[in-house]
Amino acid sequence: MAARTDLFQSPDYYRIDELLTEEHKLIRDTVRNYVKKEISPIIEDYAERAAFPEHIVKQLGDLGCFGPTIPQEYGGGGLDYISYGLMMQELERGDSGVRSTASVQGSLVMFPIHAYGSKEQRKKYLPKLASGEWLGCFGLTEPNHGSNPSGMLTNIKDAGDHVILNGAKMWISNAPFAQVAVVWAKDEAGDIRGLVVERGMEGFSTPTTHGKWSLRASATGELVFDNVKVPKENIFPNVKGLKGPLGCLSKARYGIAWGALGAAMDCYDTALRYSKERIQFDRPIGGFQLQQKKLADDVKIIAPAQSPDQVEGGILTYTENTPRLNLELPAQFRAGHSFKTDLNRNSDTINSGNTDSAAEISKYNQRPWKK
Ligand SMILES: Cc1cc2nc3c(=O)[nH]c(=O)nc-3n(C[C@H](O)[C@H](O)[C@H](O)COP(=O)(O)OP(=O)(O)OC[C@H]3O[C@@H](n4cnc5c(N)ncnc54)[C@H](O)[C@@H]3O)c2cc1C
Repeated sequence: MAARTDLFQSPDYYRIDELLTEEHKLIRDTVRNYVKKEISPIIEDYAERAAFPEHIVKQLGDLGCFGPTIPQEYGGGGLDYISYGLMMQELERGDSGVRSTASVQGSLVMFPIHAYGSKEQRKKYLPKLASGEWLGCFGLTEPNHGSNPSGMLTNIKDAGDHVILNGAKMWISNAPFAQVAVVWAKDEAGDIRGLVVERGMEGFSTPTTHGKWSLRASATGELVFDNVKVPKENIFPNVKGLKGPLGCLSKARYGIAWGALGAAMDCYDTALRYSKERIQFDRPIGGFQLQQKKLADDVKIIAPAQSPDQVEGGILTYTENTPRLNLELPAQFRAGHSFKTDLNRNSDTINSGNTDSAAEISKYNQRPWKK
């Protein structure tokens, strides 16, 4: 497959750049340039083959995309949440699977180690995860317990200086390549506990999940625990119960919402470009009013969502530990997923199926609602 040249341009019709700090713009532009140079040219090929570009893990670490809000003393960037959001926006602008890899590492692995872990756990794991030397994964979902994780069967039993872990997790992002897994399991009292399981512990395996129709360039797998001996020092001392994993998911959703914005920006850019190139009735289709209306509708949805004029971040306000969807935003955006879908459909009607630039828009064809 020919490498794609990424010609993405981001219009700023609402002069939103004026609302960002110089540091925010520098961070956004650095990640945007990285995506253009290192992700866009290769990602269609990886997505096509459903392969994970493992080499980007170190690159993302060097760029500071793993745990940017984690304090610098643990290898993080010590940045604010808008910086984190802008990074996720730019990564997902390139590919949803790449953003997913970074979100899992930052929000689902590094966040709980920092928030719930001991000082020793923070020191041992966070710098390696921040630098990309190690990849981590987050094990909550089980074959029979997805939306309702409180029913989980994975369990730990006390065995002196260690616990014995049994059970299985599935649909776990990064699992096949992860050196460490943050795992949620019930103890003998029935309390949900978090613990760090390391690759190489006897009885721990991570079989790859095949046949995914979306996020194809992100690696997904199972976590299987067969009488795994985990030292007690690997258990998080500072959290018990479902609030542990749910706190992580709240953090992840913040980045996912910014990612949806990045995907929308790329949909718009692709549709605009195609509308200028595609000739029908002897003129570019972008010359027809109906196409122009569709593009303008896209801008009307995207631009307000980009505005950081709320407390922190236009997409979500971030108060204390709880990200909240910004209720001033258009309903389509609050719905998150359906926003992406609507915009995607809108842009797709411009791209149509009969396009020479099929490779360029193929990433959208990976999405299940296109099937
Ligand atoms: C690509 C990918 C990566 C993932 N990565 C991870 C990961 O890294 N770590 C991890 O732990 N998990 C991960 N997951 C799992 C994901 O979080 C679960 O799929 C999710 O929790 C839903 O669980 P389920 O698939 O079992 O759906 P189910 O719980 O079986 O739900 C099926 C449908 O029923 C609906 N539903 C369920 N309960 C209700 C209700 N009370 N009211 C109304 N509707 C309801 C759901 O919304 C859904 O539409 C991943 C999944 C995918 C596809």
